[in-house]
Amino acid sequence: MSLKIIFITGGVMSGLGKGVTASMTALLLKKRGFKVRMRKLEPYLNVDAGTLSPDQHGEVFVTEDGTETDMDIGNYERFAGVTCTKDDYITSGKIFSEVIQGERRGDYLGETVQIIPHVTNMIMERITSNIDEDTDFLICEIGGTVGDIEGLSFLESIRQKSRSCDVMYLHIGLMPFLKKSEEFKTKPIQHSVSELQKFGIKPDIILCRSTKYYGDLSWKKKIAMFANLDEEMVFPAWDQESLYDVLEQYYEDGLDAKICKFFKQKMTKHLTKQEIGMPSFHYEKNIRVALITKYNKINDSYCSVIEAVKHAAMYNRCKADVVAINSDCLATEELKEFDCIIVPGGFGGRGTEGKINALQFARENDIPCLGICLGMQLMVIEGLRNVVNIDSNSSEFCKNIENPAIGLIDECMENVKGGTMRLGQYPCKMSGKMQEMYKDRLQDGIVSERHRHRYEVNHLHYREALEKVFNLSAWSPDNILLEGFEIKDHSFYVGVQFHPEFQTYLNNPHPLFDNLIKAGLNKQN
Ligand code: GLN
Repeated sequence: MSLKIIFITGGVMSGLGKGVTASMTALLLKKRGFKVRMRKLEPYLNVDAGTLSPDQHGEVFVTEDGTETDMDIGNYERFAGVTCTKDDYITSGKIFSEVIQGERRGDYLGETVQIIPHVTNMIMERITSNIDEDTDFLICEIGGTVGDIEGLSFLESIRQKSRSCDVMYLHIGLMPFLKKSEEFKTKPIQHSVSELQKFGIKPDIILCRSTKYYGDLSWKKKIAMFANLDEEMVFPAWDQESLYDVLEQYYEDGLDAKICKFFKQKMTKHLTKQEIGMPSFHYEKNIRVALITKYNKINDSYCSVIEAVKHAAMYNRCKADVVAINSDCLATEELKEFDCIIVPGGFGGRGTEGKINALQFARENDIPCLGICLGMQLMVIEGLRNVVNIDSNSSEFCKNIENPAIGLIDECMENVKGGTMRLGQYPCKMSGKMQEMYKDRLQDGIVSERHRHRYEVNHLHYREALEKVFNLSAWSPDNILLEGFEIKDHSFYVGVQFHPEFQTYLNNPHPLFDNLIKAGLNKQN
């Protein structure tokens, strides 16, 4: 079958769950046996998400090939189980810089370089570039809201794409519910549909995001009539408790079946909820996890870490209660209330002393604790300071320090030159407790983990001191870079230079998070 493209746009306002809808649609189609690829077109001018503040735009996710993307790509990978690459994250910044570089090289042979056709042609080319021939569906989400000035060239490109490809337009808009008059209001969606129509795009499916209310369905008729659609192509997208409830709703409403019908694809047999991968469980316990943070928009800024905790908790049949504690105003005593502590990654010195205090408390009071990237680097500093009595710090936020146990690679190791940032997937070899925890993921003792950091542990100068505190049990295969460690006589005290949260899945949680939760549950007993 030739490639079918589903373009997903959002109307009325942002935050309606386009990314979630894209992921759930991909997952349902994958379970039906189709080969699915996912892509995101981002209207902003940043070339990638590397410099975006997590407080403004949510966490920065890192793909296998080291592209820094926004959190939606993380949701695609986690929920739909797809692997994304640099080709799947296309920003206006990337497109414009390629067009301008082309103009400087003289590629356009004297033409006047314009949004249409040069930018739009580049977008169209990127939409379908580097896609395996046997791919059945490409799900392509357009960031932003229909009508935004930044997104106009994307809308024009996806319209033109229908001239050469088999295309469906799925639109998700807000449908407010007015309590006083007890009715849904369809006007905002009517407006966003007419905005789309202005660009020559007629939605084929409309999802109406709203608060849950099972009343009469006359709103469906109204929207269908206005958008020239069959009523069966208008779906509710109610607010739900969890993403898994969203999946269940789309599954029960037959979103994937309607998509297959539209593209005249035969549906395979009816899939059961279990086959779709919906978790069937009841929570037996609660687990309280303290996340020692710096950013304020917790759910977005630490999205992958929180999802990783949830996956591991579900796997262990418990409900995770993740509480963010700002490290600037941490009173360590409050950590006593928690079963586990996580110190996540981050950049810059703000809040690091509070994090170090939390780590000391976890180490001394045997509270299961995971340090990720910056968290791991701070574990090193804490251990050297409080166990070995070396007043250490990282050269990232403390210049001219006598004992920088964390430094840039060329500061720590002669003859080893680093780029500015170590990004993407690199192999690590494991031993000791770490090897035990990773047993299902190791191949010949090696596992690939994703990285995003500049600074490294200076094990050349501090090896002896480090070994007084930690078991140095994860290394790059050439033994040049320390990747992780644990403390033997502790219920769980693990630090890793990489980001395990970027490779965790619903029924296959990351082993470090799984073991962290298990250690927390053990302590409860
Ligand atoms: N700031 C630290 C570094 O660059 C840690 C980065 C991170 O936690 N992702 O090495």
